[in-house]
Amino acid sequence: MIEVYKTKDIGFCFGVKRAINMVLKEAQTGQKNIYTIGPIIHNPQMVDMLREKGIRPVDDIKDIEDGIVVFRTHGIKKEDEEYIKQRGLRYIDATCPFVKKVRRYAIMLKKMGYKVVIVGEGRHPEVKSVLSYLDNDGIVLQKPDSIDARKIGVVSQTTLEKDFFLDIVTGLLRDAEELRVYNTICVSTSKRKQEASRLAEKVDMMLIVGGKNSSNTTKLYEMVKRLQPKTYHIETEDDLDPVWFSGVKRVGITGGASTPDFIIDKVERQVKNF
Ligand code: SF4
Repeated sequence: MIEVYKTKDIGFCFGVKRAINMVLKEAQTGQKNIYTIGPIIHNPQMVDMLREKGIRPVDDIKDIEDGIVVFRTHGIKKEDEEYIKQRGLRYIDATCPFVKKVRRYAIMLKKMGYKVVIVGEGRHPEVKSVLSYLDNDGIVLQKPDSIDARKIGVVSQTTLEKDFFLDIVTGLLRDAEELRVYNTICVSTSKRKQEASRLAEKVDMMLIVGGKNSSNTTKLYEMVKRLQPKTYHIETEDDLDPVWFSGVKRVGITGGASTPDFIIDKVERQVKNF
């Protein structure tokens, strides 16, 4: 039988657990129209499960007439928050406190006269949210680049790889007269990466479970794949291919911060059956 090992930190992270508990508590009161702007977390299976309980993602805030709006873990845009408040819509702020910390530091740096640099992916909702609270007066850096400013203030997307962040900061140091840096990488993300790298060295194959749209899961996959070439990113047990397991004795399983335990358990059971 295949031996299966899992990382210690697996399943929902603190921020995701908190957000899911908040919406479920609201759903339990019998409230039917609960909306999130975009998916509350980047896990399609969990979002489908929540939809059955009346918690639905919408693309545009203007599509919401009544009910309750949930601010998702990655945060929402400043203009959406203003709209919700102007319309007097009820809301639950489930933004992860670590994401709020990024925003807080970015706003503070701007007020102190720094040119704010957010190191991260421009398309990620967390980065878009932080930028919107700077009234879009900030720079998103996805690769080392020089910035034409005397005072530069830097924050990081919570799911970044530390080495990547360091590269960008080192690059900025070359030109800036003054550089103020806040390492806002989430501890949970770094811990998961450390545990996954350790596990990858002990097994013949790694499975990274989580949404294909999840930034932290994808980054975890890319990092582990560099250490263990036989690594696969799957969303559910249905993605497992028996061919992968030929000659494999030990399988390591880990997951992104938004991967529910029930999916990990199903994957584990299925692997043991091969
Ligand atoms: S990974 Fe970190 S920042 Fe993101 S939701 Fe979880 S605890 Fe918050």
